[in-house]
Amino acid sequence: MARYAMVIDTGKCVGCMDCVVACKTENNIPDGFSRDWIVEQVKGKFPNLHMEIRSERCNHCDNPPCVYCCPTGASHIHDKGGVVLITAGKCIGCKACLAACPYDARFIHPDGYADKCTFCIHRVEQGLDPACVAVCPTHCMTFGDLEDPQSEVSKLLASRNHHTILPETGTRPQIYYMVK
Ligand code: SF4
Ligand code: SF4
Ligand code: SF4
Repeated sequence: MARYAMVIDTGKCVGCMDCVVACKTENNIPDGFSRDWIVEQVKGKFPNLHMEIRSERCNHCDNPPCVYCCPTGASHIHDKGGVVLITAGKCIGCKACLAACPYDARFIHPDGYADKCTFCIHRVEQGLDPACVAVCPTHCMTFGDLEDPQSEVSKLLASRNHHTILPETGTRPQIYYMVK
């Protein structure tokens, strides 16, 4: 069984937002909404400060509160790759999942259902990378299967320091940020 994950090298990200534009185009995201976004965070202690630039999105958590709280089963874990998805037709727009997600990764689509990153599963199932990964001009994002020790994501995590966002929430995020 595959376990899809994304590994992002924050040292290579230049904050160009190409990933955000690519996602909006690929997934036809309406004006005023985004499935991914850029965070700039100052890290370190003065005078040794540096800026971490992160491309963020749903973390496709291994322990996803958004799935557990959903009253209709619209939010679910896909049977391939552990990707967290939403079945729009089952969603009643109650916003329980929006409140449960510690990452503010979801929004209510103007058509009335919860929406968020899908890891571009429609592309992945065709053997393609997610749109954000495919367009990044600095190649700072890598997508793949953590269950395969020979995959690029497995090798990167084995060889570089990395962190996840808000690990203390216990969600077990599957987007990893590599640091120097
Ligand atoms: Fe960073 Fe790549 Fe996104 Fe540009 S496209 S903001 S370099 S992750
Ligand atoms: Fe759910 Fe939020 Fe985790 Fe995505 S980041 S799987 S929406 S809890
Ligand atoms: Fe489930 Fe939709 Fe309610 Fe979210 S808004 S908890 S996906 S029914």
